[in-house]
Amino acid sequence: MSVSVLSFTHDTTAEELKRVSDEFENASPEAILRWAGEEFGPDIAVATGFGAEGCVLIAMLSGIGAGARIFYLDTDLLFPETYALRDRLEARYGVRFERRATRVSLSDQAVEYGERLWERQPDLCCRLRKVEPLKEMLTGLQAWVTAIRREQSPARANIDLVERDDRFGLIKINPLATWSTSDVWDYIAKHDVPHNPLHDHGYPSIGCAPCTTPVQIGEDSRAGRWRGTSKTECGLHPAGKEKLKDVEGPGSTA
Ligand code: SF4
Repeated sequence: MSVSVLSFTHDTTAEELKRVSDEFENASPEAILRWAGEEFGPDIAVATGFGAEGCVLIAMLSGIGAGARIFYLDTDLLFPETYALRDRLEARYGVRFERRATRVSLSDQAVEYGERLWERQPDLCCRLRKVEPLKEMLTGLQAWVTAIRREQSPARANIDLVERDDRFGLIKINPLATWSTSDVWDYIAKHDVPHNPLHDHGYPSIGCAPCTTPVQIGEDSRAGRWRGTSKTECGLHPAGKEKLKDVEGPGSTA
């Protein structure tokens, strides 16, 4: 598939990016991944939190033979099932995931900020354990690939397939943006993709163990994250209001 704009720079305008994204609206995620690999070469990395969508991307990358860098943010607070899944994916697809983490151990964090910071100041905890390591990982790259989808939550409903990520200063590619939950699970079933067993126990979205609960029928897939608080995102992707503001005016965030 050919796309009009083939050389992204810091001067690439929001309109140009939007045009590229729109051209991909009916493309397969594999086509977008192939294009991204050709466009950005070694200056791109794929992020995964080992959710169902992340597992799909890993399987697709293996299928198209893309030797992409794939990294995950290890908060030291992931579920045991998630660490086990990481190992199963490595064995199945012959990949080695790059681990990115804060240099602040949980015990040092407790000394500095008090025990169970996630219960009192989840934004600070996410900043220390997710956002800062991500920032470090993305420094020097031109683009990153995420597994987020529009259908996952109202905050993600307006994401583009290719967009500028002003928060981290690079291009963000969301190849699964247009996929439905059924698309994800059909792919997993068809290709026998390893996935987290917690998905079978009411956890459609799985983050850190202290901040993730099962969801009830009728709730959106991320309702179990930071339940009982107004927080909806870790800070890696924009919350809905930020995104709407970006669509309506200057600037954009991720
Ligand atoms: Fe901390 Fe919870 Fe954020 Fe994980 S999801 S980094 S435990 S606040």
